[in-house]
Formats: sequence, structure tokens, C-alpha cells
Amino acid sequence: MDIKIKENLKKIFGFNQFRGNQEAIVDNILQGNNTFVIMPTGAGKSLCYQLPAVTKEGTAIVISPLIALMKNQVDQLNAFGINAHFLNSTLSKTETNRVKKEVLSGATKLLYVAPESLTKEENVAFLKSAQISFVAIDEAHCISEWGHDFRPEYRKIKSIIGQIGEDLPIIALTATATPKVQQDIQRNLNMEAADLFKSSFNRTNLFYEVRPKAKSDTKKHLIKYVKSQKGKSGIIYCLSRKKVEEIAELLKVNGVNAVPYHAGLESAMRIKNQDDFLNEEVDVVVATIAFGMGIDKPDVRYVIHYDVPKSLEGYYQETGRAGRDGLEGHCLMFYKYEDIVKLEKFNKDKPVNERENAKVLLQEMAAYAESSVCRRRVLLHYFGESLNEDCGFCDNCKKKRDAFDAKDEVLTAIEA
Ligand code: ADP
Ligand code: MG
Repeated sequence: MDIKIKENLKKIFGFNQFRGNQEAIVDNILQGNNTFVIMPTGAGKSLCYQLPAVTKEGTAIVISPLIALMKNQVDQLNAFGINAHFLNSTLSKTETNRVKKEVLSGATKLLYVAPESLTKEENVAFLKSAQISFVAIDEAHCISEWGHDFRPEYRKIKSIIGQIGEDLPIIALTATATPKVQQDIQRNLNMEAADLFKSSFNRTNLFYEVRPKAKSDTKKHLIKYVKSQKGKSGIIYCLSRKKVEEIAELLKVNGVNAVPYHAGLESAMRIKNQDDFLNEEVDVVVATIAFGMGIDKPDVRYVIHYDVPKSLEGYYQETGRAGRDGLEGHCLMFYKYEDIVKLEKFNKDKPVNERENAKVLLQEMAAYAESSVCRRRVLLHYFGESLNEDCGFCDNCKKKRDAFDAKDEVLTAIEA
């Protein structure tokens, strides 16, 4: 590998070494190859395209689904002294023109574009006239209906890239590792021949647990658990905005420093609650799944699912926000089958094929929750990985061990 790359890693990004597959991925992109990256959340996917973008001539286009994240990333890059911009619907005409001028001058190393903006004809024409180094498609699972965050506009990306430049290298990145989604992405982007870099999804520092959700005392259990974690950061996911408000209030009256977060809150309030959580002004965020994408708080010690998620994929993503610092994280889900039935009812207005997909995902979720097999085994199997032995660090493994210990004690007592 080029010494300059290592130098840039340190000089520009301040990192001493690459993590996992990063170096091989950067190298592959620099060679101009199509690249498909599957890495868990928090593993460091951004660097995989940011570093080559800085090194290569021209501007790299980064397609990213969330406008809020885009600004965040661009601000971070600017803070590193990298010339980066974004193009989306929040920009005024003047600002847009300024960005375009920068890109055409060749100064911009990364241009973040929302898929909605990418598909606009005037932008396609503009990008055609710019010198583009490669295209990175972040959160590439948005292409797949099997993903947890399907975006129809993502399906148009491939044909637009074709219009911008014939042989533009593409790098697709996602944290969604199910074989179904992976195939969908590759087929849709015509990237079957791309070099695949997939890292393990095993989060060894996370303890997985499922508790039955009994009508009468689940709230009591929840309060007790959260109070026992005082001073630690935690996220509690609920299905509906109403439930979020209710649980946040319940925790507050019980002396827990908690705030709600959902898309129905006024944006100033949403931002404040998120910031208060990040700055440790509050311990707990009670949230819908609107919370968390791209949030990088390293010391979240627990993630609770008060309601069952819609898929194992979503469950993995949401629980994955615990223990980013590598220290222990507790993933606790309260489960009852009625919640699955309730979610199935929500799906009834969807088009037939979407409804069928959603149903399969839910049944897989239920199977996980009801299983007595090592949780990590089930989860990893879902992502196409296998574990040689039970993990020893989930509720099912612990139960087995406790039963074994109890038997052992009885035997010792009899022998004695
Ligand atoms: P992902 O997109 O895979 O979820 P990010 O790209 O947001 O992950 O990176 C997660 C965190 O890891 C960020 O805080 C980033 O600065 C950090 N990071 C990435 N690469 C490295 C590295 N080589 N050394 C140290 N920290 C890194
Ligand atoms: Mg990312």
C-alpha cells in the first residue's frame, strides 16, 4: 500500500491504523474496482470512501439517504480540513450554485447527494460536466425491499450513474448483511462481479436477553431495570409515538432522567433531546426507530426493546447502538406474540408483495424471540454466518449454564 495513504490516515483523519478490512477496501477503490462493503454499524465504513476520495483526482459523489446525516458528515470533514459539500433540498438557489462552482473547479473532494437530488435532470447534467472520481452509495440496503429502510429512489441510482459517467467505479456500503438483501443490492446495481468485503457481525460484548412481556408487571420490571442502571446511558425503543411519550413520562415520574424522541416532536425539541442524551444531560432516551441512525454515542450501556421490532435486521441495528466502545452492553427485549399479531395488522394496507415480505420478517423475529437456542447463534445465522459453539453470553446460554450448575450442586450434595 502506498505510504501516502497511511500518512493521510494519520495526518487528515488522525487515526493511527486501519480497522478490519479498511485498508484492503481503500486499496481496492484506489485501483478503480467496483467494491461492495458489508460491515456492522460503527465499524468505520465512511473512512473506506472518504480516504480514497481525498487521495483521488476529482470529486467523489456520496449518495446518502438522510439529509440530517449529510450535514453532520460534511461538517466533520470540513473540520478535518477536507473540502466537502452537500447537495440537497435544504440549500437555497445561491448556495446550490456556490457548491456547483466549487465542484466544477475541482476543489471539492466529496459531494454528498440525496437520492432525490441525484435524480433531478439539472443535477445529472451538472454532474456529467464535472470530474467525478467514483460514486459511493452509503446505506445501500435502501435499494432492497427486504431491507429495513427501503427507498424507491434508490432503485434509480444505477441508471443515473450510467448517465453521469460510463465506467465510474461504484462502492456500495451497508450494515445489512442478510443474504437476501445482499443479492438484491448486487443485482440492482449490476455489481455481481464487484469485490466483496464482508466482516463479521458478531458483537461479542453485547449480552442478548428476551423477557416475556406480561400485561401486569412489564412496566414495573422496566422501571426497576432502568433505575438499577442509574447514571448509565440507555435507549428504550417503542413502536408508537404515543407509547414513547407514555413510557418517558412513566420513567420521569419514577425519578429517571428520561426524554422522548420521535418524528412527531417539534424539530427543536427533537434536537435538544438528542443533544442532551449525547452530552449526558439525560440518562435515557425513549424513542421510536426514528432515533439512532448515524448516532455515534460510544458508551450506551443498554438498549431495551419495549415492543418487538419489525425484523431481526432492525433488532440487530438498534441493539448495535449499545457498547460501541467495546465495553459490555445489555440488549433486553420484552416480548409477547400479541405484539407480532399487532404489527401484522399494521401491514394490511401495504401492497401484496410488501405485505408478504413484512410477514416473513416478522415471523423470523418471532422465531428468534421464542427460541431457546443461543441467541447469538440465531442472529449470526440470519446474517449468513455460523458460530462454532454457543456464545455463553446470552440469556439462553446462561439458563443452560445455571441449570447445569444446579444439577452439579445436587450431585455434589448427594456425593457428600
Ligand atoms: P459506520 O458507517 O460503519 O457505522 P462510521 O464510519 O460512522 O461507521 O465510523 C464509526 C466510528 O469509528 C467513527 O467515530 C469513526 O471516526 C471511527 N473510526 C473509523 N475508522 C477508524 C480507525 N481506523 N481508527 C479509529 N477510529 C476509526
Ligand atoms: Mg455509516
